[in-house]
Amino acid sequence: MKQIFNFCAGPAMLPKPVMEQAQQEFLNWNDTGCSVMELSHRGPEFMALAAKAEQDLRDILNIPDNYKVLFCHGGGRGQFSAVPQNLLTKTGKADYVVTGSWSKSAVAEAKNYGEIRVIEPVVDVIGKKQVLPASEWGISEGADYVHYCPNETVDGIEIFEIPETGNVPLVADMSSTILSRPIDVSKFGLIYAGAQKNIGPSGLTIVIVRDDLLGRAMKSVPGIFNYQTLADNDSMYNTPPTYAWYLASMVFSWLKELGGLEQMAKKNRTKADFLYQYIEQSGFYESRVSEQNRSMMNVPFYLKDESLNSEFLAQAKDAGLLALKGHRSVGGMRASIYNAMPLEGVEALVAFMQQFAETHNQ
Ligand SMILES: *Cc1c(COP(=O)(O)O)cnc(C)c1O
Repeated sequence: MKQIFNFCAGPAMLPKPVMEQAQQEFLNWNDTGCSVMELSHRGPEFMALAAKAEQDLRDILNIPDNYKVLFCHGGGRGQFSAVPQNLLTKTGKADYVVTGSWSKSAVAEAKNYGEIRVIEPVVDVIGKKQVLPASEWGISEGADYVHYCPNETVDGIEIFEIPETGNVPLVADMSSTILSRPIDVSKFGLIYAGAQKNIGPSGLTIVIVRDDLLGRAMKSVPGIFNYQTLADNDSMYNTPPTYAWYLASMVFSWLKELGGLEQMAKKNRTKADFLYQYIEQSGFYESRVSEQNRSMMNVPFYLKDESLNSEFLAQAKDAGLLALKGHRSVGGMRASIYNAMPLEGVEALVAFMQQFAETHNQ
């Protein structure tokens, strides 16, 4: 089989060693004679796996003891609704920072539950999008929380600073940036992430929540979205997505073996810099995001001559470079280069882009 590199934004590629191990033990996991997906989530084997996965994630992210880690259903969008149902209950007011399409969708959902104030800190600097420093966002005092999205998957906008929000809990949708670099969890009230970018397959959602934020949910919140209920039941209030949890546990082990997030961040920085530097100097492609906010995980780029888009995509596919089409709402191209994407994949992409530019340069 020829070498394929999959740049899909999500569900995204998983680390090869993880996929190979899963394949090897697909029918007989841990000498149980069963596939891990056929085991009771309450049996001792799976319970041990689940506990180890949580501990590994705690180690990797250095999660303080006063935070619960929940393994949930419902994806990022499920959390768009779970977050307000659990937290928007003191003043009924929250600030939402909108920097792209995902944070905008979060607002649409949150509005069903309270008074949402929208902050829009993205400005245009000579044709490139840039996020104003958090000190200029004008975060409300006394809101139930502030919500933002540190990495906008569609727009390729990443915010590297952690906003200072005083006593107001900071809530982050980290679906496409979690585990890409170290973060100081203690600065956050709540972090959530759909698994299908950097954690594992779709179907699993991780919530990391400071324990003082539990127990204040609306009465109407469904049990499977109630953080207190999930915490009281070790995320097994109902049947969790066990196979996704298993794969995530192997991704966590893989990350630990690589040396953790410091090492991962170095690799990711190298990949992203290599791609952005080529885009900048090519004269043929362009990034429309300002240098300080360029995502390390999702790299949208545009051909200066957009009439070549479909030819670019068709030839890329023939070269084994898949899923480079930008999100339909923004057009152009997007290369998602999550943790599992090796440097060789980015090198192959740049080599292809170079060759395509050479053959099409007037
Ligand atoms: C992918 C993604 C989502 C949506 O996740 P679903 O699991 O499809 O609901 C939300 N936020 C961000 C930042 C994402 O990248």
